[in-house]
This record gives sequence, C-alpha cells and structure tokens, in this order.
Amino acid sequence: MRIDVVTLFPEFFTSPLSQSMLRRAQELGAVTFRIINLRDFAPDRHKVCDDRPFGGGPGMVMKIEPLVAAIRALRQEDPDTWVILLSPQGRLFDQGKAGELAARKHIALICGHYEGVDDRIRFYLDEELSIGDYILTGGEIPALAVADAVTRLVPGVLGGAGAAAEESFQTGLLEYPQFTRPRVFEGHEVPEVLLSGDHAAIARWRRQQALKKTAAARPDLLKKAKITPEDEEI
Ligand code: SAM
Repeated sequence: MRIDVVTLFPEFFTSPLSQSMLRRAQELGAVTFRIINLRDFAPDRHKVCDDRPFGGGPGMVMKIEPLVAAIRALRQEDPDTWVILLSPQGRLFDQGKAGELAARKHIALICGHYEGVDDRIRFYLDEELSIGDYILTGGEIPALAVADAVTRLVPGVLGGAGAAAEESFQTGLLEYPQFTRPRVFEGHEVPEVLLSGDHAAIARWRRQQALKKTAAARPDLLKKAKITPEDEEI
C-alpha cells in the first residue's frame, strides 16, 4: 500500500515514520510513505500557500491552487489515489474506516493548517476525515493518526496473528485488561484466572472484562456490539 501525505511541514513526519511500527511496515515493504511538500505546487516565486479570508476574520486560509495542483499530480500518477482531507468538519475516523482504507492500494492525506482550507477543495476530494471533536493546529497529527491506524491493519504488518482482531473497537468492545510480570506489584495482584492455564476460563474472563469496561467507559459502543445470550448474563 502507498500512503502519500501533502503538508506544509514535511519535517514533522521524519521521526514518527522512522520509529516502531511505521518503520517496520516500510522495512517489510507493506507500506510506502511519501511526504509531499505543498510549497512545491505553489505557482508563484515566493511559494505562497495561504492568504487572507474573503469576508474578513482572523488568520489565514490555505489557497486552493497549490492544493488542487498537488491533488491533480497525484491522480495523474495514479488515477485510483483516494484523496482525503483531514478536517475537524469531516466524518469521524474510526476503526471501521481504518479497515476500509487499509484495503485500498493508495491513499493521499491532505493536511490543512492556519484557519483551514479554501472550501472549494471539496470539489476535488474523495472524503474528509476528522479524528475527534477538538481543534488541532494542523492536519499533520491527524494524518499520522490515520496513517498509523491504517498501517497496522495492512496484512503482514502486525506480528502475531489475531493481534489486531482482539483490539479495542475491532470487536465492537473495548479490549480486556492486559498484564505482564511481576505477578504482584505494590500489593496489586494479577487476576488468578490468567495464571490458571485454563484457556476457556481465560477467554470467558476476558469477554466479561471487555463487556464491563465497555459498559462503564463507553456504553454507546454496547448498543452497536454483537451481544450473545451468554453476554446478557454477565
Ligand atoms: N477553522 C477550522 C474550523 O473551525 O473548522 C479549524 C482549522 S485547524 C486550526 C487547521 C487544520 O488542522 C485543519 O484544516 C485540519 O487539516 C486540521 N485539523 C484540526 N483539527 C482536526 C481534527 N480534529 N481532525 C482532523 N483534522 C484536524
């Protein structure tokens, strides 16, 4: 899979893409990243990519010409490029959307900045995605969040089979609690059942815990999750 990022701040991505899972995915050849400097598409000598808003108001707005030139160049290279603007006004990004994007061959993430982007960009996009109901300074952190969530779902990227399948949201519930050594830390013990070697009992306990955690922290998820008759008794 290829993930292109169009940004005014290419250096923002240097460290995140060279660490941990995003680095591993590239080494495995599962995902290729390309960071594209939007200024390379600015038509003028000074590489200006922002201007004052029509109608007045604070701050600057990202100009349409460099953005559309970048999107056109990407689509010319690969007509199947799926172009996404990161925007607090977009549809909320979730695990389902991450899975959908991971099945694509090529996505391009466009990062806004300043007060946002000239609204006419919507005529050139495939979709707009928000990572939550809060305002960040730019689309770089949202682009990284999307790139990370998508990359770990590309086949072969996560080590253990099923590692992604059990994670929070993938099952419709929050994940069960995890523990590692030591067995006792400052008087806090690891639940006995996890040391029992009884795989059926462990699976039952984990399901119970996932249901309880979800009911306490995210009852909204329970409404959409697949609940079995055994779950009803928990
Ligand atoms: N004035 C805009 C508004 O009220 O909708 C917010 C602009 S924000 C300061 C600048 C850029 O950061 C946006 O164009 C977008 O690319 C990105 N951004 C900020 N918050 C975001 C979020 N929650 N999800 C996705 N992108 C976000």
